[in-house]
Amino acid sequence: MTQDTSPDVAASPPKIAFISLGCPKALTDSELILTQLSAEGYATSKQYAGADLVVVNTCGFIDDAVKESLDTIGEALAANGRVIVTGCLGAKAGQDGGNLVQQVHPKVLAVTGPHATQEVMDAVHRHVPRPHDPFMDLVPSVGIKLTPRHYAYLKISEGCNHRCTFCIIPSMRGDLVSRPIGDVLADARTLFESGVKELLVISQDTSAYGVDVKYRTGFFDGQPVKTRLLDLCTRLADLAAPHGAWVRLHYVYPYPHVDDVLPLMAEGRVLPYLDVPFQHAHPDVLKRMKRPASGERNLERLARWREICPELVVRSTFIAGFPGETEAEFQTLLDFVQEAQIDRAGCFAYSPVQGAAANELPGQLPQQVREERRARFMAVAEAVSVAKLRRRVGATMQVLVDQAPALGRKGGVGRTYADAPEIDGQVRLLQPEKVSKTLKVGEFTRARIVAAEGHDLVALPI
Ligand code: SF4
Repeated sequence: MTQDTSPDVAASPPKIAFISLGCPKALTDSELILTQLSAEGYATSKQYAGADLVVVNTCGFIDDAVKESLDTIGEALAANGRVIVTGCLGAKAGQDGGNLVQQVHPKVLAVTGPHATQEVMDAVHRHVPRPHDPFMDLVPSVGIKLTPRHYAYLKISEGCNHRCTFCIIPSMRGDLVSRPIGDVLADARTLFESGVKELLVISQDTSAYGVDVKYRTGFFDGQPVKTRLLDLCTRLADLAAPHGAWVRLHYVYPYPHVDDVLPLMAEGRVLPYLDVPFQHAHPDVLKRMKRPASGERNLERLARWREICPELVVRSTFIAGFPGETEAEFQTLLDFVQEAQIDRAGCFAYSPVQGAAANELPGQLPQQVREERRARFMAVAEAVSVAKLRRRVGATMQVLVDQAPALGRKGGVGRTYADAPEIDGQVRLLQPEKVSKTLKVGEFTRARIVAAEGHDLVALPI
């Protein structure tokens, strides 16, 4: 008697539990792996129970993130026992130079660094053989997205050429590698065609796009396009226009060539919003941080940007209490936030990251001083932010709806161009005055701003 070896199409596919931690860049890695798993016929879930294997995509940026990632791996091992680890923490060395994850959790089946879809898939194949009958047709052309359907992150490059002294990302992710412009634009088109209304461009340094390939000419739709920020933004704006979709730029440094993108913002083709991680304002601190564009005159640059595009909203992040920061240097930072009229500011109290060069700098400040400066910074930054928000009361703005239970008949939640998802404020939408007016998630509505509440606005859909 021969054994029947034909695939059992009725059997349920092997299930991979997937846990995604970390930043938007890690999220796009997760999306690539999930897409590949589905393309190969694996079922995926967020639950350990009933899974044949667990993949944990980790973050290793700050010590809290390392702890969260290590705890999650421990939890997955306890609940399931078969665990593959990927992401930034996977590239991190432990005390004796060996792999940190393997030292803490020797039972993990495999460990890879970030953006390692193929390596993760190889490890999955070793431990849970690929199902026989991949249901390719079930994979949406846009891949698996972890964000809601109406917005998506578009990663344009990996790695970073800078060596900021507080950061270990370049040692984990390597130097800048720009994605080919044709691929980036093709992904953007697919996302818009699948219903994405807001595209968030991300990388470690968006303004450096194309530097590594000397702004090489690529091709999209048979047309030559340069691998360069301005060309990228222009083409993204062209792709977004027929869908009425937004394009938002994150992680842009204040380099002179960014000025060229501002006219696109003034024309409303790219959102007049820039996420510029200044980190500090005093030139000596910026030098100790080895920040990109540390020699630039940032106040003048911001003034020029606002001259070209008066609606520009600037979000930024800062570090208070960096090693050696004097009270006078900190005061320069406080003055900068006020003078620069930063719309949205986040601030971390400096915290040493294992392996970062800043740990060796003289003048490490006591934790209490770092925290106290962070609190003082936030008080000033919030006052600027709240005053700017209040000036919006009475204006009519376009709002992208994120939540609208019962078709928004009782109101909902949305965002204006000034609010990036997850990091900025929101707009609380009131019950529309007109009974016939409904709100739908992923659609735009005009709304009259009636109040400012902390970091948020309240608006009446019209
Ligand atoms: S620019 Fe600096 S902070 Fe940002 S990833 Fe590169 S080294 Fe890190």
